[in-house]
This record gives sequence, C-alpha cells and structure tokens, in this order.
Amino acid sequence: FNKIAEGLKKTRDKFFGNIKTLFAGRKLDDEVLEELEEIMILSDMGVEATEDILKELKERYKKENSDDPLLLLRDIMVEHLKDEPLSFNPDKKPFVILVVGVNGTGKTTTIAKLGKLYKDKGHDVVFAAGDTFRAAAIEQLKEWGNRLGIDVIAHTHGADAAAVAFDALNHAVAKGRDIVIIDTAGRLHTKQNLMEELKKIKRVIQKVIPDAPHETLLVLDGTTGQNGIIQAKVFKETTDLTGIVVTKLDGTAKGGIAFAINQELDIPIKLIGVGEKADDLQIFDPKTYCNALLG
Ligand code: GDP
Repeated sequence: FNKIAEGLKKTRDKFFGNIKTLFAGRKLDDEVLEELEEIMILSDMGVEATEDILKELKERYKKENSDDPLLLLRDIMVEHLKDEPLSFNPDKKPFVILVVGVNGTGKTTTIAKLGKLYKDKGHDVVFAAGDTFRAAAIEQLKEWGNRLGIDVIAHTHGADAAAVAFDALNHAVAKGRDIVIIDTAGRLHTKQNLMEELKKIKRVIQKVIPDAPHETLLVLDGTTGQNGIIQAKVFKETTDLTGIVVTKLDGTAKGGIAFAINQELDIPIKLIGVGEKADDLQIFDPKTYCNALLG
C-alpha cells in the first residue's frame, strides 16, 4: 500500500498516464516531444524544468540509442529533483523545527502530521503555538496535540509569538524533550510585520539554543502553482529555509509542481502532504515521487 502513489492518482491519471500512451509504438520525434511538453506544462512542472528535461531527453535518447523513452524520461526526472532528506540529529536536544508559510497552505495540519511522524518513531515531541495571530490557530494545534498525545505550549491569542517559542524551548530543555516544532503566523498581507516576527522568533530562540532552528520548513500549497512559488520567494528573501513541504498533492491533477519548485527555488522538498489525516505526510523521495507520477 503506497500512500504516495495513491495521493498522486489524480495527476497520474490526467497527465502522466497519457505519456505512456503517447510513447506507445512511436519514435521520440518532434511531434511526440511537443505533445510531451504540453502534458508536462499542464501538470505545473514549469516551463523551465520542462525545457531542461526535454532537452536532455532528446540528447540522451540519441546518444544512448535508447528504445525506451519512458524509462529514460523517468531517470532524467528523478535526477532533476534534489534529494535531501529531513534532518534529525538526536544530539541536538531539543531538535528545533520552525514551520513557516501562508495561512491556508496546511501549516498547522503539517505540524500535527510531523509531530506524529516523530512520535511514532519514539521521540518526545512538543508543539509551540506560535501562530498567535489567526484566531483559531492555537485551538486547532491544541486539538491536534490532544488527539496525538503531544504537549502544546501556548499563550493567548495576540500574544508575542517569540515569547511562546522561547517558553517552549525552555520547557523542552528543562524536561529533556527531543523535538520542538514551532508554528508561526501566515498573514502575508502584512508581509513586513510577518518577516520581522520570524526574525525575532529566530533571535529569541537562539538565546536558548544558539544553533536553532535546526530545520526551517516552508509549507506550500501544491494546488496553487506559480502563486505558491511567488510566496515562497518572499519567505526565502528573509528566512533561511532548509526545506519545503508541498501539501495537498492529493487534491490536484497538477502534481508536477515539485519540478517547478525545485527549479525556481533551489530549496529541497523534504516532505509532501497527500491527504488530511495525521499519517498523510510522506518523506519526499524523488524516485518514489516520479514512480507515482509515471505509474
Ligand atoms: P494553515 O492555515 O496553513 O495552518 O492550514 P491548515 O493546517 O488549517 O489546513 C488548511 C486545510 O487544508 C485544512 O482543511 C486541512 O485539512 C487541509 N490540508 C492540509 N494538508 C493537506 C493535504 O496534504 N491534503 C489535503 N487534501 N488537505 C490538506
């Protein structure tokens, strides 16, 4: 049972399934390449990544005297994606993960899923309810915490997010907790304030743990295409992102977005969300992802 394959079913059916049909019994000529380009662009792979991949496909098809363009395409696609797993270093205690992203992208859900992922591996996790801006965010995280048996350090709505993070880290140090996952606000309409707030959180948590955060993950809604990438660039300008989480890949037929993200942002995708449930967060592995796309 492969959750990634299941989650990417829409994309596979709508686009990548067509590639198989496209190649069947045909040479890789300009006409086929053109149709392939259309499929790839319609799946949100992005023009740049599409052009790069097709150029390489054309060259290697000739050079390697290939008789299986689908296999070759699969290899090239896999090679095009950065493969950098989510880091976890048990020597860093607590290991601190800061999670940023725009409201509605699935940030809180991702934190819950990530907490479960680590908890299931036997780690002692704490959540910091650092989105003190969105009215329901604290409650939502507390609810997940209850459900998953994970402690949530929270202040009241409107409180200083950096103070919440500071308390959570001190708590984790005092109690010997393994991992702290910090939620943050996602109000991009007050972009300047948000970026200042993120910087402050970082400054303040470094008073407790000088090399924290050990991971800074940006949550991106996989259904928003180029808009999502523009959002990501805003965060990238002010925050040292170490990885991207692409959510809602189950809800779109445009699941090729990972290629565009990879090409345009130069930040590795580390996790993907393929559903709303707690165990629908999957480690991003280029090979598994490409296999899920191509069937
Ligand atoms: P936040 O505002 O960024 O914290 O977003 P939430 O975590 O509240 O998520 C917004 C909505 O997206 C919720 O209804 C989630 O259940 C849903 N969601 C989050 N991740 C996924 C995913 O991977 N797949 C699907 N289908 N829905 C998701």
